[in-house]
Amino acid sequence: MIAIYPGSFDPITLGHLDIIERSSKLFEKVIVAVLSNPGKKALFSTEQRVAQIQECTQHFPNVEVDSFSGLTVEYAKLRQAGVLLRGLRVLSDFEKELQMAHTNKTLWEEIETVFLATTKEYSFLSSSVVKEIAQFGGSVHHLVTENIAKDLVNYYQLKQ
Ligand code: ADP
Repeated sequence: MIAIYPGSFDPITLGHLDIIERSSKLFEKVIVAVLSNPGKKALFSTEQRVAQIQECTQHFPNVEVDSFSGLTVEYAKLRQAGVLLRGLRVLSDFEKELQMAHTNKTLWEEIETVFLATTKEYSFLSSSVVKEIAQFGGSVHHLVTENIAKDLVNYYQLKQ
């Protein structure tokens, strides 16, 4: 079974990586799919995010990185994937995730959404938290990989 892990990944965090690593043991193939959404302002471009994820997932032989735009279920059909993978951190994630899973089912009955519970150390972690800390010069080394931490430092230095 092929699983798609869709998201913004702006940028990818250790929480995302943990979900990727664990799901790669459950599925034949995991496609990490960066949503390219022109309506949502991202810090890193789609191409940069794909490259960042490729760099830190290259040691997983059954993980592929790609980008897509439009409906996730259409992308899943195109890639012949039967599962959408999402991570659950806190109760507040649940409501919007359940709504999205139900909506996707109405669009394509065959699609199943599988939720993986976060590893508890990462339950507070989101890309937004990382950006907030990095923006004010705080250390994010415990939250993202070394290369992403460098990319964040570069980004905020260039902005100054
Ligand atoms: P989106 O904008 O689609 O929510 P994100 O990049 O924020 O994209 O997240 C992609 C997926 O990863 C979501 O299902 C989200 O709940 C999950 N996720 C994000 N951070 C973590 C974490 N720390 N632990 C587990 N899952 C996470």
